[in-house]
Amino acid sequence: MLSGSPPATFPEPGEPTSNPAVAPDLSLAVWPGLTAVHAIAANGTTVWTARHPCRVCGEAHHFADEYADDLYHRSPDSGSAAFAADGRTVWAHVRGDLLDVPAAPDPSGEDDESIEQWVIFAAADGSVLARTGTDSWSAGSEPLPHLDPAVMGLGIGEGQDGSAVLFGRLGEEGLETTMLAGGDRVLVALGPDHFLTVRHGGTTDLRVHRLADLGVTAELGSADLPEGGPESGWGYDVAPLDGRTYVASTSHHGHAERDIRYWLIDVADGVVRGQVRCPGATGPRLIGFGDGTWLTAGPEGDLALWRLP
Ligand SMILES: [Zn+2]
Repeated sequence: MLSGSPPATFPEPGEPTSNPAVAPDLSLAVWPGLTAVHAIAANGTTVWTARHPCRVCGEAHHFADEYADDLYHRSPDSGSAAFAADGRTVWAHVRGDLLDVPAAPDPSGEDDESIEQWVIFAAADGSVLARTGTDSWSAGSEPLPHLDPAVMGLGIGEGQDGSAVLFGRLGEEGLETTMLAGGDRVLVALGPDHFLTVRHGGTTDLRVHRLADLGVTAELGSADLPEGGPESGWGYDVAPLDGRTYVASTSHHGHAERDIRYWLIDVADGVVRGQVRCPGATGPRLIGFGDGTWLTAGPEGDLALWRLP
């Protein structure tokens, strides 16, 4: 049994939140919350807070007792937050216009009526650098930072309404976004010059796209894999090993409950190189670190770190 102490711990803000983002230097954690984005330092100091309309009811709450008795407010649809690769900006997907922070002008020049906005904050003080509407009402969103700190990917899940894939670039004109056409793909990985998607709802194909023009360069069908078959589907967790290879999993209908197999994917050649055996790994979770290693997490929470031979 190994034991150790965490390199940094952060107290949670006092309201329902979804997955926090942590700065690359572990100095700051940012939580997307029910009514605000909260940036908290490792010593517990609140560095900044950006209030926005409540994710559940749209009201501008000031106190938790305004909603504490309501069941829906305890498990709100989640927003998201991520640090750019250099840790200098935080990209948060929030509901509505920020309440207290003067927003930068929308680069489109339109007065945006979007329910949700993508806002770029300076990590140091929470000042708003740019923002734009995402024309969405999400059940959850998943940011993926790019190596270039000016670029971020965002997968937006809208339940049965589909799934959007958005790319943002912070430039002199503000935050400019590009959306993948179709509205039925889930963003699962973002590499230096490419990204990967699976189909929303039926994950039988894994597509490799060029980042430059969003075009498809390869389509990898789970049914075509050895031992695949029509009931096999890709999982949503794809682990980057380096700039061109990934480990991805397939399972029965992609539900990650049985027939879980792991595969090595080469996006430069657009092929599945072969099956990767991870003895004992049976869980759906896969995390890649970009240095040739990846982590599997089993159903009991057991973790294993892997490296290709
Ligand atoms: Zn509310």
